[in-house]
Amino acid sequence: MFYGVYAYFREQACTVICPYGRLQSVLLDRNSMIVAYDYKRGEPREKFKKNNVAAGDCIDCFQCVKVCPTGIDIRNGTQMECVGCTACIDACNKMMEAVNKPTGLIRYASENGIANREKLHYTGRMKFYAVLLLLLTGLLTTLLLSRKDVDGTVIRAAGMLYQEHGADSVSNLYNIKIINKTIRDIPLTLKLEKAPGRIIEAEGRSIAVPKEGQGKGSFFIVLPDNIIKERKLKLQVGLYEGDKKITTLNTNFMGPIYHPESK
Ligand code: SF4
Ligand code: SF4
Repeated sequence: MFYGVYAYFREQACTVICPYGRLQSVLLDRNSMIVAYDYKRGEPREKFKKNNVAAGDCIDCFQCVKVCPTGIDIRNGTQMECVGCTACIDACNKMMEAVNKPTGLIRYASENGIANREKLHYTGRMKFYAVLLLLLTGLLTTLLLSRKDVDGTVIRAAGMLYQEHGADSVSNLYNIKIINKTIRDIPLTLKLEKAPGRIIEAEGRSIAVPKEGQGKGSFFIVLPDNIIKERKLKLQVGLYEGDKKITTLNTNFMGPIYHPESK
């Protein structure tokens, strides 16, 4: 996909697909810092002639247009296609140096800065964006730090309630799916946590989860019926590699409700 973008699609990716430009039109205001052409200083643009005091500083050399990767003319104002690469700033500064004029005809500035010579200042909108960015960075960091190497789901087999298991126990059948995000194979065994029951793996062995792959299996959870006091019990299944606990998955156990007088 990236080869296709770089070799054939090129700037169309910026102008047609990329949401950056569309976001700009919503997020910017007249105080936002953008790559801007100083039309007060540059106009009227004219081809370079020595000692032409009536002309603005823009010598209409089109270097800013030629270097622009999305092919726009920044002298027409900020546009959705601008990706803020600043190539036009460098090209224009070079031309200004060549004709002995001050650099910065195209520069980082706000619309108010160009029109009214206002200095860039920290507006309420900027503060709001800064707080939002901090919150999003915090969220991303939390997600990255809490990312588990092995994750999965345990779901009761569809269409089945519970089975009587011997004289005094009840079992439920489960399907487990495990994702291994590490670069090594992991043989996992399952253990029931914090409940006086046991797990019987349907295949009778540990579940092999290949590196960067998925593993699945089926197993029964068997609970003694004297601990089943409600129809749905919350249970935890621990995934172990040898004696090392990898993670814990939550699930439900469905059982009959026993009334004391019926026993
Ligand atoms: S910053 Fe880059 S994309 Fe924007 S106008 Fe200048 S050269 Fe073009
Ligand atoms: S590079 Fe600078 S001087 Fe040349 S056309 Fe663009 S704005 Fe004008």
